[in-house]
This record gives sequence, structure tokens and C-alpha cells, in this order.
Amino acid sequence: MSDAYLSEEHIQLRAQVRAFALAEIAPRVKAMEAAPGSFDRDLAALIARQGWIGATIDPAYGGMGVGHLAKTIIIEEICKISGAMGAMLQASQLGAAKIIHYGSEEQRRTWLPSIAEGSCLPTIAVTEPASGGHVLGMQATGRRRGKHYLLSGHKVFVGNSHIGHVHGVVVRTRPGSRGLTAFLVEADTPGLSLAPYQPTMGLRGFSFGELLLDNCSVPVTNMIGEEGDGLAIAYSSSILYGRPNLTAVSLGLHQAIVDETARFASERTRFGAPLAEMPTIKHKLGALQSRLMTARLTAYHAVRLLDDGQPCDPDLINSKYVNVQAARESASEAMNIHAAVGLQTNRPLERLFRDVQHTWAPAGTGDIQLHRLAETLLGTSQNQWSQRLASVTPSGAKHPSTSCA
Ligand SMILES: Cc1cc2nc3c(=O)[nH]c(=O)nc-3n(C[C@H](O)[C@H](O)[C@H](O)COP(=O)(O)OP(=O)(O)OC[C@H]3O[C@@H](n4cnc5c(N)ncnc54)[C@H](O)[C@@H]3O)c2cc1C
Repeated sequence: MSDAYLSEEHIQLRAQVRAFALAEIAPRVKAMEAAPGSFDRDLAALIARQGWIGATIDPAYGGMGVGHLAKTIIIEEICKISGAMGAMLQASQLGAAKIIHYGSEEQRRTWLPSIAEGSCLPTIAVTEPASGGHVLGMQATGRRRGKHYLLSGHKVFVGNSHIGHVHGVVVRTRPGSRGLTAFLVEADTPGLSLAPYQPTMGLRGFSFGELLLDNCSVPVTNMIGEEGDGLAIAYSSSILYGRPNLTAVSLGLHQAIVDETARFASERTRFGAPLAEMPTIKHKLGALQSRLMTARLTAYHAVRLLDDGQPCDPDLINSKYVNVQAARESASEAMNIHAAVGLQTNRPLERLFRDVQHTWAPAGTGDIQLHRLAETLLGTSQNQWSQRLASVTPSGAKHPSTSCA
């Protein structure tokens, strides 16, 4: 059913990414799992060189220009094999968004070709210890000094923090809601350092850590957009890239959970028959499949609307909410079906269960999604980023004629 959303090009791309993930990523998952707190730079570089970070970068800047549905398929396929590497890929696609949306022509020509070819990994650094969902509460500052700004502050949970080449850092340059400003900060800029990496529960192999800025001097020409555009840059990147990217991460993990559980229930015998034949287990397997199908439909539908240039912020928000909820519920049910075996760390389910927990917080927690959806319901939503930035959201993708209006 969800394949009806895909063109021949999408299906070919899916086969290509799937083959790559099986051949190149799968053999390295065990090593990443065995080394919490480390990240596989070589593997990240190899994935980046496939050009997939440039999925939504216009071919005029060297990108694939295949759109958000294609991007979803790429992330999903990688995450079926490694959530960490899918998270790595999406973090730099997210990092490219601010340049695509708000970069000057010179910034686009400088950065997008190297991002698209995979030699430059961009990031976006918004979150701080005292301001997660409350973006306007951030404390990092930027003070103008002639032709430079001096940036100081502390950014946390930055995707690709320790392997990124250019960070998109949002800081406060003046008071008020129009007081945030975004800058491109190259990783070797004096005054920028990385805090020692703190391992997390899952996504082993993905670096999402801390940036420390201490009077880090960046030229005014590195400002993205205008002074005061920082909140718009953070929000638009999060809605148009963060939400669909994390949707795709949870979708890939969800598929892997369902596949693994179906295999397990078919192979394991109890009372002389496969577990899958027990009515209670079969019922649970049906529920897994139902959740997965519904989740994929919301995911593909939302990004298809985005590719078609239609207003779809609520669809992107809802698909993130639905996918994360569904994948976490399925992970929990899959654990029940596996019983004690699910806890063994030499089996994939334990890793998938941990990895899927990492999809709740980024690009807005579930609470934030519900908050935004309530605003849609009440007619108090303030922005439709999909509409405002439609002219710089190139789809480039050919879609089948299935109506999704
Ligand atoms: C895998 C991963 C990758 C990430 N990548 C990046 C990145 O690349 N760049 C970056 O800047 N950040 C990144 N983050 C950080 C992420 O954006 C934050 O975790 C997120 O904004 C939530 O902030 P917080 O964790 O501080 O939670 P808080 O905002 O402190 O929330 C704590 C609790 O309060 C609830 N809450 C907060 N505000 C509200 C509200 N208004 N209404 C109702 N409930 C509310 C939340 O739902 C949550 O339950 C990443 C995080 C993860 C886990």
C-alpha cells in the first residue's frame, strides 16, 4: 500500500541503499555496539560519500535534488541496519537545511557542493543545558566586534558534534523573540572546543555531544540570514527537516523490530509449534504490523505533501508523533514476545529497543508535537514553514500519480 507513494526512482534508490547498508554497515554494527562513546568516522565518511546528505540539495549546487520522500527512504533503509548511522546521516541533512533555506548565494555556493559530495558534515547546534524545548530561553551569546561576532556558550546533544566540519550555531545577539541569530562556525575556529563525549543509552556510533564556545570569533559574513533570524532558522529546520528525519529514523527502527520479531516468533517453538501460531502471539504480531503500516503511511504522506509544495506542517508534526509513539509501543510489545531472550545483548532487539528511545526528544518531544497539534486544532498556529519556504524546498522527485490531497 505505502509503495503506491513511490516512483520507480524511489524503488531503485531503496534497493541501492538497502544493498549498501547490508554490505557496508551491517558488518560494523557489532564493533560500534562494543565501544559505547566512540564513533566510526570512516563509516560516516563512506556513507556521506554516497551523496545522500545532498538528497534535498538542488543539483545546481551538486545535490541529488530528489526530495524529502527519497530522503525518508534513505534514512529508513540505513536505520533498518543501524540507527546510529541513520541518525548520523539525518543530522547532517538537518544541518544543511539552514543553508538551503536561509543561506546567501555565496554561502550556498561555498558550502552546499562539499556537503552534497560528502566531504563536509554540517550540524545544527541549538539545544543548551538550560533550554531544550524552550529555544528562546537559550543563554549562549553573540557580541558584535567590528566585522566579527564573538560567540560564547554551551551547546548540548548536537548531532555529529564530534565529526562535524561546520556547525550552525544559534545564539542570542539581543533581547526578545527576534534576538536569536545563526552563524556558521567551522570546527577548527579558535574558541570552539568539544567537551569529552558522554556515552548514551543507545545509538552507539553516533556522536551527539557538546560544543563549548569561548569568545569564538566568526566573521559577520558567516551569519545565516539576517540578525534576528535565528528562531525562524531553528524552527523551520526542525519542522521541515528535523520532524521528517526523526520520523524516518523511527520508521527504519520500527521495521527492523517487526522483522526481527516475526523471524523470532516463526523460528522459536513452544508446545511443539512455532510461537507465531499461538493465538495471543499472532494477535500481537498483527498489532505490530498494523502500527507499522499506519506509521509508514503518515510518514510517506507528509513528506509527499512537502515535496509537492503543499502546506503540511501539521502532517509533518503528526507523522513524527505517530511514528515515535508507534515504534516505542512496538519495541515494548516485541520485548514481551521475545520474553527473556529479548534481554540478551547479543541479539538485535535489545539494541533496537534502546535506539528507539532516542527518537522521542529530538525535533520536539511528543509533548511539543501535541502542543503544536492543539494549536492547529484551535487555529492559533503561527507559521506554515512548508508554505513560507516552498520556493526553496526543491522536490526534484517524480512521484507516481497517486492522489494524496
Ligand atoms: C538523538 C538526539 C539528537 C539530537 N540532535 C540535536 C541536534 O542536532 N541539535 C540540537 O540542537 N539538539 C539536538 N538534540 C536535542 C533535542 O533537540 C532536545 O533533547 C529537545 O529539544 C528536548 O530538550 P530537552 O531534552 O532538554 O528536554 P526539555 O525541553 O527539558 O523537556 C523535559 C520534559 O518537559 C516536557 N516539555 C518541555 N517543554 C514543554 C512544553 N512547552 N509543553 C509540554 N511539555 C514540555 C518535555 O516533553 C519533556 O518531557 C538531540 C537529542 C537527541 C536525543
